[in-house]
Amino acid sequence: MGKLKQETLQTDVLIIGGGGAAGRAAYEAKRMEPQVDVTVATEGTWGSGGSTVWVASETLGINAPLNASDDGDSPDVYLEDILKTGLGLADESLASIIAHEASDRILELIEMGVTFDGVGEKPLQRKLSGCTKARSLAEGGQTGVSIVSVLKKASLEKGVKVLEGIRLLDLIYKEGEVWGARGFRQGKQIDILAKAVVLANGGAGAIFPHNINHPSLKGDGFAMAFRAGAVLTNLEFFQIGPGVVFPRMHFIIHSHMWNFCPRLRNVLGEEFLSNYLPKGVSKDDVLSLKSMSFPFSVRTNARYLDISIFKEICSGRGTEHGGVIFDVNHVPDSELENKAPITYETFLKKGVNLCTDSIEIAPLVQNFNGGVKIDENAATTVPGLFAIGEVSGGVHGADRPGGNNLTDCQVFGYRGGRAAAGLAIERSEKPKEVFREKELIPQEKTDMLAPVKTAMDKSLMIVRHKEGLAALLEEIEGCRQKVSQLDVTTDNFLLVAEMFARSALYREESRGIHYREDFPNRDPAFDKPSLIRKGKGGEMGVWVTNKDV
Ligand SMILES: Cc1cc2nc3c(=O)[nH]c(=O)nc-3n(C[C@H](O)[C@H](O)[C@H](O)COP(=O)(O)OP(=O)(O)OC[C@H]3O[C@@H](n4cnc5c(N)ncnc54)[C@H](O)[C@@H]3O)c2cc1C
Repeated sequence: MGKLKQETLQTDVLIIGGGGAAGRAAYEAKRMEPQVDVTVATEGTWGSGGSTVWVASETLGINAPLNASDDGDSPDVYLEDILKTGLGLADESLASIIAHEASDRILELIEMGVTFDGVGEKPLQRKLSGCTKARSLAEGGQTGVSIVSVLKKASLEKGVKVLEGIRLLDLIYKEGEVWGARGFRQGKQIDILAKAVVLANGGAGAIFPHNINHPSLKGDGFAMAFRAGAVLTNLEFFQIGPGVVFPRMHFIIHSHMWNFCPRLRNVLGEEFLSNYLPKGVSKDDVLSLKSMSFPFSVRTNARYLDISIFKEICSGRGTEHGGVIFDVNHVPDSELENKAPITYETFLKKGVNLCTDSIEIAPLVQNFNGGVKIDENAATTVPGLFAIGEVSGGVHGADRPGGNNLTDCQVFGYRGGRAAAGLAIERSEKPKEVFREKELIPQEKTDMLAPVKTAMDKSLMIVRHKEGLAALLEEIEGCRQKVSQLDVTTDNFLLVAEMFARSALYREESRGIHYREDFPNRDPAFDKPSLIRKGKGGEMGVWVTNKDV
């Protein structure tokens, strides 16, 4: 990386983030074009932050139709599952790429040293939600850690450079083209000029009061792309599922825990689930369906479980930690230990014996299906800018098969890394020639976002409706009015919150992981992905369309 002047650095391909998608892109960019200078810039140290390495569940699965279980899996069956689960909103050409390239990418990971759980010579493949075949591979809860460590090692060996401890907050763009990114490291502004920028900085869970994400996931990628004029898609679809709020720890209630038929009680000690079930729907049916899928979705009757927890908490019958009481004390410890060993052990380490103690759970934001709209090579609608992994959008629809995110990171990390390296060679102009200096306003310590966060908790979580979303938009605007000039960090937060609110408000129907209580049914008028982009006057435009943009 050459130095133009203090705090201004230069590279050919800049990859922002340090998770599974970033690792794959960095490795592939350098593998394809060894002469290209590739830099990974990430918050914290590479491999320490983000969802890929966030061990917070019993298993972390990655899909590939290897057919190791001889159950007839194939890329075509896989594609059908993605499209069906996406409920009409997954981009068919992107989904087809995932379905047809997943096996090659996963086999490469195995060759590079990732060791998935196996049975004899064959990898063990499990069937996750939305999958008709057993196609998920895992290394317990450590799958992502293993993937990132292998890709990081291989990238460093190929000569990829690393810039750690940097939070990039804005893109460097001119005349509709991106030429780098800028942000802060240890309170100092750093501008990185690049011929191609790859956003791989994950989702936005950390901006929600109730989330199960690493604190670095604040949606900066969504905000940076929006500000530079990119189109974002399907932002109303983000996964929310039950996770632990007490004891204080980061762990989700893995779907198979519902097979133990846990007791759910509010702070008054009342079992409440049955109060929320319509006629003909039994508690056992709901628990059994919930055992097949972690996130809330209106796709199945498992939804009543998430809705009941959310409503109990909103009605003031939650615990002081903002949750409801969950216990599996009726289950023999040998059964818990055998069937949920990682969950059981993780709680024991926290001093909680699930056989005798109760815990508290609440709906937590986990994962984003939508994001910055990409094409087959992970290019966004803005030249010079690519997006891969969770920050990207279009690949997944209104819901997605479990295990597809990690696959998405590998498939589009591969494509995006290679395309970015190709663009860096094509772009003969040097970034410094189009570079404009701009000083970012650093964040001041303030609690001015508190009312917005409260409104997000009320209106963007499980149950959404017009009044709540309109109130959230008012809070966002009120916050903007309080200061003459917003710092970039706060601006990012508010932009992302607004994009979620506007997308959720626009979609006047219920589909997949988006539930509008005022529009409880699916509406064919919305059989299209939502899109959002900055208008000419800076305003946020939302629309739904099947047309190319
Ligand atoms: C509890 C849990 C369980 C999950 N289970 C599964 C599963 O079983 N199967 C599956 O497929 N998916 C699962 N997911 C989702 C999956 O883990 C993620 O979608 C995927 O790992 C995202 O990878 P990524 O590389 O895009 O982003 P991440 O791994 O989140 O990495 C983002 C990186 O960007 C960095 N970063 C963020 N902002 C900035 C910034 N402004 N500047 C610089 N760096 C920045 C972060 O620190 C991090 O290093 C789960 C997620 C969670 C939270």
